[in-house]
Amino acid sequence: AAAEEWDVTASKAPVEVKLTKLLIDGELVDAVSGKTFPTVDPRTEEVIAQVAEGDEEDVNRAVRAARKAFDEGPWPKMPASQRGEILFKYADLLEQHTEELAGLETLDSGKIYEQVRYTELPLFYKHFRYYAGWADKIYGQTIPADGPFMQYTLHEPIGVVGQIIPWNFPLVMFCWKVAPALAAGNCVVLKTAEQTPLSAILAGKLALEAGIPPGVLNIISGFGPTAGAAIANHMDIDKVAFTGSTEVGKLVMASAARSNLKQVTLELGGKSPVIICENADVDKAVELSHSALFFNQGQCCAAGSRTFVHESHYEEFVEKSKARALQRVVGDPFKAGVHHGPQVDKDQFEKILNYISHGEQQGAKLLTGGARFGTKGFYIKPTVFSDVLDDMKIFTEEIFGPVQSISKFKTLEEVVRRANNTTYGLAAGVFTRDLDIANTVSRGLRAGTVWINCYNNFDATMPFGGYKQSGIGREKGSYALENYTQVKAVVTPLHDAAW
Ligand code: ADP
Repeated sequence: AAAEEWDVTASKAPVEVKLTKLLIDGELVDAVSGKTFPTVDPRTEEVIAQVAEGDEEDVNRAVRAARKAFDEGPWPKMPASQRGEILFKYADLLEQHTEELAGLETLDSGKIYEQVRYTELPLFYKHFRYYAGWADKIYGQTIPADGPFMQYTLHEPIGVVGQIIPWNFPLVMFCWKVAPALAAGNCVVLKTAEQTPLSAILAGKLALEAGIPPGVLNIISGFGPTAGAAIANHMDIDKVAFTGSTEVGKLVMASAARSNLKQVTLELGGKSPVIICENADVDKAVELSHSALFFNQGQCCAAGSRTFVHESHYEEFVEKSKARALQRVVGDPFKAGVHHGPQVDKDQFEKILNYISHGEQQGAKLLTGGARFGTKGFYIKPTVFSDVLDDMKIFTEEIFGPVQSISKFKTLEEVVRRANNTTYGLAAGVFTRDLDIANTVSRGLRAGTVWINCYNNFDATMPFGGYKQSGIGREKGSYALENYTQVKAVVTPLHDAAW
């Protein structure tokens, strides 16, 4: 559909909002303060529902419940295989609520319904099953001693874990955080993003139905400087896991250090390079670098937001990328066949438009898009800039929106240097048909993930996280278990006979 045919009229959402309270100690409750805040439909800018607004008092209550659940059990103490069984059951129960979860997710965030329903939710269930399988496979080592001693290690849960998640993938971020933490036997206080509180309340309630005991998983809706800061500062939270901006990640880490030195993992921003080499399959590279950036309206920490193209096919690549962006159908995210919905909220919408005007002012060439679409809702036209230079704002700062920036390069050595010339190091893409180049460039890139001839693959089994200021620690895969376990060394003497 050409732009003239785009239609952003909002359809009636196929879901009813039933749950708006905090989930603490197995109960859905109002905030202690009685306060609520509105959550807004990004398609219409209208209020969907008033949601209980948790702050420090509510976090304190949730931490007390989690502490009790951890200290008194049964969660960390039950046979690990039983914890696994409950998590498998939880995954099944979540899956039975697919329509409702997907409906809430799209209504609250503006994400494409089909993407949530058919791409994200299958990953969400898979994560719970993957970590359910790990529950009874978390164990230490028996280590030979330099003398008559028996030495072994135990991998024990850390205790009460605070988790703070963002709005761009509310349920996917929920499972990345909650599944490994629970599998390892921890108890959780999770704060959702203020833009997207709804789906996690349902997911939290279903945990109880699956048999996860009260207090093991507490869900707080609320704002960063109040509820989020209360988690980071809490004296009785043993570990905090945060996903969001680098700026707030630094605050969380400082609070953790100032309070009780709680352990910290951070998954932060990115400015990920996508490198299209001389011998790449150009059409495939156009398609995948398009989705690397525009997936989820560009609201991805791993968005391929710096597209480096070899001079040999630069003109062709630029023309095709522009044409590809124009094919992207903007519209109501609930409607089938729509690829591109609104940005999540007014702040993000304005911030992105501001970056676009910087791009124009600094002399990048605007090929398509560059403005709002429609008069209602936070829709921005898919935007492509070419001839972008390294020091332009759109090439150095995280935009978190549908703005593709294309730049030309000549040599591999040059492009690896330029790709690494950023404070971030989350992900990277390389397009080439030459194995030696693929391997050499992957080694040279300072990023936590390198996708070769693909992008945005988020299998539950692989670690994900950042180099440099993109984060600390790894989520997903077996690596994430390290975030939620601590190692105890146990030593005991052996009798002479055995020695
Ligand atoms: P974004 O810019 O993408 O919204 P943020 O880093 O601001 O990312 O937000 C990510 C999460 O961090 C959200 O849940 C938000 O409420 C929370 N948050 C924001 N500020 C703070 C803070 N000062 N302390 C703890 N959490 C915060």
